[in-house]
Amino acid sequence: VQEAINRVKADNDIINAVITLDEENALAKAKASDAKGYSIERPLQGIPIGLKDNILTNGVITTAGSKMLADFVPIYDATVTERLEAAGAINIGKLNMDEFAMGGSNETSYFGPVRNPFDTDRVPGGSSGGSAAAVAAGQVLATLGTDTGGSIRQPAAYNGIVGMKPTYGRVSRWGVISFASSLDQVGPMTRTVEDNAIMLQTIAGYDEKDSTSAPLEVPNYVASMKDGVQGLTLGVPAEFFDDAVDPQVKEQVQAAIKQLENAGATVKEISFANLKYGIPVYYIIASAEASSNLQRYDGIRYGYRAENFSNLEELYVKTRTEGFGDEVKRRLMTGTFSIASENIDDYFMQAAKVRMLIKEAFDKIFEEVDLIVSPVTTGTAFKIGEKSSDPIEMYMADLLTVPVNLAGLPGLSMPVGFDDKGLPIGMQIIGDRFAEEKIYRAAYAVE
Ligand code: GLN
Repeated sequence: VQEAINRVKADNDIINAVITLDEENALAKAKASDAKGYSIERPLQGIPIGLKDNILTNGVITTAGSKMLADFVPIYDATVTERLEAAGAINIGKLNMDEFAMGGSNETSYFGPVRNPFDTDRVPGGSSGGSAAAVAAGQVLATLGTDTGGSIRQPAAYNGIVGMKPTYGRVSRWGVISFASSLDQVGPMTRTVEDNAIMLQTIAGYDEKDSTSAPLEVPNYVASMKDGVQGLTLGVPAEFFDDAVDPQVKEQVQAAIKQLENAGATVKEISFANLKYGIPVYYIIASAEASSNLQRYDGIRYGYRAENFSNLEELYVKTRTEGFGDEVKRRLMTGTFSIASENIDDYFMQAAKVRMLIKEAFDKIFEEVDLIVSPVTTGTAFKIGEKSSDPIEMYMADLLTVPVNLAGLPGLSMPVGFDDKGLPIGMQIIGDRFAEEKIYRAAYAVE
């Protein structure tokens, strides 16, 4: 834990992955954890970790990357925070992120951009960019991120680490600051597949405080991961390899698929014609849900409050004008628009229908294959500032990740090589609902 803290101190000025370093608490907890010692119930004893800053930590500032919550101190822990602590892990700090998890580059954070450890002129991806960079830079051994449309998998790919977005309902969202409640999931980001499985094992499972959490047993991921890929059929959807994807990314992912085939998996060409609808559907649904979820930041209940106001209306308007950044405002405006009574049939309801079609297309595919393999992103980490003036271009970067969230599926990103600039390339492994076991089997076999 001390070593992790030292590393944060040594390079956080540049990387900016950590918003709040909780040094004293972490050291005290490490001492207490040492005293308890290792046991089978405490598999993470003494392991330094970090949490994305939209995951509540009792007594430790939790900002969601926003000015709105820059001084917000929660009075309870998220369920995932609690479970990690019970397993012996030591949270050393809170990690930078796009404001309210809206973004794909970490540039929308109120606390400044995170820099990619592979090339500090480049973004780490987002919105869990701090969680990815902290692992890649060796500051901590594991982190938690959240993934609404790719925010665990895309930064994992850009930082050469392993990131798992679990099945919707696999992990409790209690105490996680909501962005889009029907899409949000918490998941682990680690250096290795095994570490990832250990982390998911710890945080997964039913939680009575989250009515959307699934009342299902959690399998032993760590044990079953070693079963190999013999007998598994992998679907390779042509649309995920089309011209929008960088040839170097395609090449490395195809090489990894070949390796899986050599290890005993059956590879099958498939089609996912609905891919192109993912982005419009996702941005309508996610923004609509966000516009509802973020109503609570009104200057009254908690968070930032504007100073000079003469009536309630003015307090709301000034608080939200001053407290939210541009990207959040863009989502709140488009989201409110698409659910306004005169528009809802043309936008939100249409999107909800196409979302069902996307889910059904996946269901059909999973009648024939065990897993789907594809690239995570169309390219590798881009330069800071390169896409920030063009929101549509930024949204397009989520092409290959959003369908997974729309269908509530689990998806993992793992490193499979580098491009000619030395930037990491990720492969995505998508499973049917609650098929994380199979995903880990494939990932472990090709790591
Ligand atoms: N980049 C996507 C967005 O901006 C995904 C974000 C996320 O998964 N939290 O909405």
